[in-house]
Amino acid sequence: MRIAGQVSIDDIPNICPLLSRTANSQYGERGTRVVDVAGVRFGGERPVVIGGPCAVENHAQTVGLAHAVKRAGADMLRGGAYKPRTSPHDFQGAGLEGLCILSIAREETGLPIVTEVMDPRMVGQVAQVADMLQVGSRNMHNYSLLAEVGRARKPILLKRGMSASLCEWLGAAEYIAKQGNLDIVLCERGIRGFPSGEYSRYVLDLNVIPAAKMLTFLPVVVDPSHATGVAAMVEPASRAALEMGSHGLLIEVADFSFGEPKCDGLQAIDAATLTRIVEFARTHDTSLRNQARVVGSSSGGDGAAAAHAQPASAKASSA
Ligand code: PEP
Ligand code: MN
Repeated sequence: MRIAGQVSIDDIPNICPLLSRTANSQYGERGTRVVDVAGVRFGGERPVVIGGPCAVENHAQTVGLAHAVKRAGADMLRGGAYKPRTSPHDFQGAGLEGLCILSIAREETGLPIVTEVMDPRMVGQVAQVADMLQVGSRNMHNYSLLAEVGRARKPILLKRGMSASLCEWLGAAEYIAKQGNLDIVLCERGIRGFPSGEYSRYVLDLNVIPAAKMLTFLPVVVDPSHATGVAAMVEPASRAALEMGSHGLLIEVADFSFGEPKCDGLQAIDAATLTRIVEFARTHDTSLRNQARVVGSSSGGDGAAAAHAQPASAKASSA
């Protein structure tokens, strides 16, 4: 029986002519597009580790954590200046002030920044500070936001919707790509399932990592913090994600001496744990992870492949 709107992964070449492997032979069956974020290479030779607070709360907390993340050996700083919260009465983020704090944190540590943008009207403002724009799980289906970030000349971290199928996730990425921006990193952050909320926040879908890599050449990373919601689970989940082929990790970190975090404190790890995760990522056997051959680097590499893969506007965005 055929049903309206029903799609399967066989439809990916039609849904995603720009991002599917079959529609883009230059990446072959295993090639990964390298997404360069201010010198940090997603899909490159080694996993990328991003650490930082859930929310930018104040200068001392974020800049202090940025230094801790740097000392731990991580590659990038995360932190939300605009927060999508379940209740509109909860802390919504420090907004513009938060962006200024992130900018100071980058200046002091040299760590590139990824931060969330929730509103198409705010893309310009957030893109002035962010090295990479995050589209959160709740906004993965926000097609006008996807188009707008696609027009921003910045790499995008696209989280998987918490109830999104792989087809829907890749379709969302295609909305960004259609605007000429192929510098997209996919981020699995846990999906709703039977045990959600009973012993973990979501279900970390490790199986989607190789599945996504089979269908698209985009790098795939994992957020073990939101996927588990439990600080003690973050380190083993990080290792598992790398074993399953993740190109990197996005991890929430807190230091309670700055006060209890305004959001997601229960899933935040400390700097010592982050250090161990970074060490694991550095020494991790990359033979499984890099089963995909690296081609088409947006920062160089296979120039011919990259030229074929990217519209001119996208190439400029990855500088
Ligand atoms: C976040 O990373 O800050 C966040 C809100 O995550 P998610 O969109 O995955 O819930
Ligand atoms: Mn959070």
